[in-house]
Amino acid sequence: MSLKSKSAVITGSTSGIGLGIAHALAKEGANIVLNGFGERNDIETERLAIENKYQVKALYIQADMSVPAQIRDMISQAENTFGTVDILVNNAGIQHVQTIEEFPEEKWDQIVAINLTSNFHAIKACVPGMKKMGWGRIVNVSSVHGIIASPYKSAYVAAKHGVIGLTKTTALDLANYGITANALCPGYVDTPLVRKQIPDQAKQHKLSENEVIKKVLLKDHFIKKFIEIDDLGAITVFLCSDAAKMITGQALCIDGGWTAH
Ligand code: NAD
Repeated sequence: MSLKSKSAVITGSTSGIGLGIAHALAKEGANIVLNGFGERNDIETERLAIENKYQVKALYIQADMSVPAQIRDMISQAENTFGTVDILVNNAGIQHVQTIEEFPEEKWDQIVAINLTSNFHAIKACVPGMKKMGWGRIVNVSSVHGIIASPYKSAYVAAKHGVIGLTKTTALDLANYGITANALCPGYVDTPLVRKQIPDQAKQHKLSENEVIKKVLLKDHFIKKFIEIDDLGAITVFLCSDAAKMITGQALCIDGGWTAH
């Protein structure tokens, strides 16, 4: 399928899943807005690699997803550059693993702001343009933790459940404007976000780091492998296709069978 002449904003796309989704959309011809933190030179290298590999335009906008005004500015800048934002992928996210009584209040606020509230602000800013075009695709990256819980992840689990609720209501609000909204719910994907939580999980569970991978992270994957970033890119491309025009308001689990039992 071709996404030529479409443009896509992918939040948190300087790393991991977001960067993978950006590549997958660019491969289909979409112009790309990269967003997220990181070393300026590394981001510029990624941006140029996308432009050269897929012959599309790629723009980097360094907006902080915990700051609503910066989210609105990012969408305006994308619209000014590409005319429209056709595809919005709300992917930026952070994690913090700690028991609920020790969980720092400021971490709760930060996780809810970045993992949930940013989705609302980005959707709100994109919708007028999408309505005008009569076409739009919103993909919110939730998690298997949007459906079920694991210990020590109070803020993350609450935010990811919230993303699914927001996805459903967005889908209903926009059902008759050619705009779909869906959530991806991956199990464990081998990205920096997951690697960073292994030492904390090892401490909480009193296990070695290798044991955390086998006994904690992949424990509930019935297919005993990490989810691949490329699979999430391909699923996002499918959700942007014409064949997926009637799929809306769904929480799509890509979890090796985790939520099947
Ligand atoms: P990652 O740490 O590799 O990437 C996170 C991205 O978000 C980075 O680009 C980072 O710079 C960006 N980011 C963080 N805070 C930001 C902020 N305030 N403003 C703008 N950008 C910000 O993580 P990942 O594993 O690729 O996770 C991406 C998404 O997928 C997250 O929402 C995460 O919750 C979700 N997810 C990940 C997994 C997994 O196993 N890795 C599983 C399910 C869901």
